Amino acid sequence: MSFLILKSVRKSFGPHTVVHDFDLAIERGEFVTFLGPSGCGKTTLLRMVAGFEAPTAGTITVDGRDVTHLPPNARKVGMVFQAYALFPNMTVADNVAFGLKVAGRPKEEIRSRVEEMLALIKLGHLGGRYPYQLSGGQQQRVALARALAVRPQLLLLDEPLSALDAKIRLSLRQEIRDLQRKLGITAIFVTHDQEEALSISDRIVVLNEGRAEQVGTPFEIYNHPRTRFAASFIGTLSLLEGEAAGEGRMRVEGQEIRVPANGNAPGRPLTLALRPEALSLHPVAAKENRLEGTIEEVDFLGSVVRMRVRVGGTTLLMDNFNDPATPPPARGEKVTLHFAPADGQLLDQPLAE
Ligand code: ATP
Repeated sequence: MSFLILKSVRKSFGPHTVVHDFDLAIERGEFVTFLGPSGCGKTTLLRMVAGFEAPTAGTITVDGRDVTHLPPNARKVGMVFQAYALFPNMTVADNVAFGLKVAGRPKEEIRSRVEEMLALIKLGHLGGRYPYQLSGGQQQRVALARALAVRPQLLLLDEPLSALDAKIRLSLRQEIRDLQRKLGITAIFVTHDQEEALSISDRIVVLNEGRAEQVGTPFEIYNHPRTRFAASFIGTLSLLEGEAAGEGRMRVEGQEIRVPANGNAPGRPLTLALRPEALSLHPVAAKENRLEGTIEEVDFLGSVVRMRVRVGGTTLLMDNFNDPATPPPARGEKVTLHFAPADGQLLDQPLAE
């Protein structure tokens, strides 16, 4: 049985339903990210898991226990918010001790736990400082220590990195992941930043208007987005519109190409998504999936050369590794592109039974 189970969870505010019959099972020790644009229901879902918000319908179980109607303090969750939310009038050590004091733990236990937590986040020397004397990144590490001090079963992180500058964001992201692995704690992380989600998660839940659009590992979500929304929300890609032309074939821009097998009746409209790195300029021996095009733009980025290539009525983005022996093509040059059929992803297909 999974550690955390959300079953048919719904949330309505008055007449507005913002989470629709949401199902998700999370395993013990897993790091799962809710990813989606502003207003898609990420925070509302997290608040229901934490107990700050009651579902309108459905159940939430943690480790086999139905917690749907339990208050936050009975759920053993630790939460970290975007704004550090430390108590400004308390020292770092007192902030970390707060939950333990509320729980009435003995003094000696609190002292040693605070010490352990501060060592864990490598701020052992700053226990006597006040939050205003810390950098944003340090404050967020204290918030993390405070959340972990009560030894929660679940760690909930609501955009904990978005208030920090880029460099700190990267290092703290790694630190959170290392800590989560070390402690073996189950974590849910909320973000609207796709790169963050790809790098930190065991699994990503792509949310769109209160529904799970797709659930999968970063590798699956990036390489095999199932819907137009999931595809467009994660990474850069180009879309080729056409129609089915027999099993595993598609007619597009006046030519026939091979695509992943799909079972669509000939003539049915199809959308093929291609990542820039799936396309290459030098089709060595490829006889199929050759697309004739014209270079519109060349962006030399160093290790990668990004090109915009016009193919019929469509512009495709293509990333090729820099080859020191071969200068990139010039604007206006006619080229032949190639992609492997398995690297194309058909979107919005009916789900296989
Ligand atoms: P963001 O990234 O902007 O924080 P989010 O994905 O976390 O967005 P939520 O905060 O979960 O989105 O909000 C989802 C929807 O529910 C929004 O349309 C929001 O306006 C609405 N909503 C959230 N809380 C309430 C509330 N207490 N009363 C009414 N509507 C609410």
